[in-house]
Amino acid sequence: TCGICVEKCPFDAIEIINLPQELQDDPAHRYGENAFSLYGLPAPQEGQVTGILGPNGIGKTTAVRILAGELEPNLGRHEESPGWDEVLEAYRGTELQDYIADVRDGEVTVARKPQYVDQIPNSFDGNTRQLLERTDERGELDSIVDRLEIGPVMDQSIDDLSGGELQRVAIAATLARDTDFYFLDEVTPYLDMSQRVTSARLIRELAEKEDKSVLVVEHDLAILDLLADTLHVAYGEPGAYGVITPPKSVRNGINEYLSGYLDNENMRIRPNPIEFEEHAPRTETHGDTLVEYPALTKSYGDGEFTLEVESGRIRENEVLGIVGPNGIGKSTFAKLLTGNLESDSGAADLDLDISYKPQYVTIDQHMRVDAFLSSITDQFGSSYWNTEIAQPLQLERIMEQNLSDLSGGERQRVAIAACLSDSADLYLLDEPSAHLDVEQRVQATSAIRRYAEQQDATVMVIDHDIYSIDLLADRLMVFDGEPASHGRAGTPQPMRDGMNDFLANLEVTFRRDERTSRPRINKPDSQLDKQQKADGEYYYAP
Ligand code: ADP
Ligand code: ADP
Repeated sequence: TCGICVEKCPFDAIEIINLPQELQDDPAHRYGENAFSLYGLPAPQEGQVTGILGPNGIGKTTAVRILAGELEPNLGRHEESPGWDEVLEAYRGTELQDYIADVRDGEVTVARKPQYVDQIPNSFDGNTRQLLERTDERGELDSIVDRLEIGPVMDQSIDDLSGGELQRVAIAATLARDTDFYFLDEVTPYLDMSQRVTSARLIRELAEKEDKSVLVVEHDLAILDLLADTLHVAYGEPGAYGVITPPKSVRNGINEYLSGYLDNENMRIRPNPIEFEEHAPRTETHGDTLVEYPALTKSYGDGEFTLEVESGRIRENEVLGIVGPNGIGKSTFAKLLTGNLESDSGAADLDLDISYKPQYVTIDQHMRVDAFLSSITDQFGSSYWNTEIAQPLQLERIMEQNLSDLSGGERQRVAIAACLSDSADLYLLDEPSAHLDVEQRVQATSAIRRYAEQQDATVMVIDHDIYSIDLLADRLMVFDGEPASHGRAGTPQPMRDGMNDFLANLEVTFRRDERTSRPRINKPDSQLDKQQKADGEYYYAP
């Protein structure tokens, strides 16, 4: 072998001459002989938000540990560490020179938001206020708490926060600190669209107004596009090696990533492009009605929260997207459908078997993945199941692992597989995109779509990632109202009408990227933004 790869040559070529240019140079770091190697490093810049886009397991954490001064890079010489002076020499003349000099001199301080916020309660006892007060180094905490709407949970114990609340508390705790370098590993999981946009704006303001360096890893492409000034694409063979490209413009970086081909690197990273096209609406005759439900209402307690559901019809064999803010009654509606909850007026009376994947995946028994999945379906291991479920969800590699040892993204994929493997009349998935990288989102999305088509299954998907919803859904159900107070569920609509409804509530418009047709968020009050609002075309503008 050429000494780079552990198992097999990912390029089907042993000759060095066929390897991409980056791999012919020394890596920034190699953990050991035949161990993971990282090529290239992201270059944080003062006053800018730098993004990294790529799969998990490709060395992003390794890169950040280097930039934080926690890990001394060995330039591939794992036997004798070269030391920071030589590392600085190796980066002389690059964008990283000044930054590495500061790291060497111990002058870089770092604030970091971890990827899996669900684990924060394991390491902190106390309430939100106690956690956040310790981080108020810039005197901005009150304003951040206000804009992220954390106020209502300030006196709540960290143990009792939902995933979406924990995510916002973790973002606030990171942004409130006064350091040179901020790293946020995934901003959006469990946040709704408006919370995503607010978080992106807060992060941008920190970089712009305070002249800080911010590095983000983010898999929601619409938000990454809004958030970052420059972008490094990361590619390679997870677990074997990773390459971080030099910085690209955000637009080019995302477009090249989606196209599967990196222009400057002359590198194909995926056989097929990921394409966004406006959905040809399914004809009314297609798909019989699976269920028709009347107008429903449901309130909790003494009317602290009230939900009104417009009557509607769910078709057989469709993927129905569900969008709307957190706390607006989406799960309540799901429970009315499943009969887990009784409505106050209007009878749902559905008599349907529903297979449900909750937003917060809690499978963590001491059981192997294969044992768990084979307990759900006797199709487990059949060639059909392998092709339609295991492969697109990349389960083969983790079949022998224990559920309790899985990462958040792995757990998510197992939960999606479990939901689809059950036999049911209706499949309901709440935020399947959380913690999946872009590639995994696209694969999971097409697995869900194919499953609906081939099994004549009806699927409802709640998600806040607008690209996932665009790729996935045939029709859209929009929730609006006042979170935690009153919600209204609209009847299922065609995609264009649904997106217009949803985005009008948020006052966000999208334009189409000329090269890839990828939707991009317009700058508020730009010419296009005003025009599209006037035309009522928020998403699928011509
Ligand atoms: P990412 O953040 O992109 O998910 P990481 O930087 O955490 O990736 O890890 C990249 C690879 O390096 C993984 O295959 C991981 O197993 C390996 N790795 C991480 N830390 C070590 C270490 N201390 N020793 C050996 N291998 C490691
Ligand atoms: P979503 O799924 O859109 O995030 P939910 O349906 O979970 O929203 O919740 C809507 C509102 O109802 C929230 O304010 C939530 O706190 C409240 N709520 C949910 N379940 C209960 C319950 N069992 N008792 C009282 N309030 C509840």
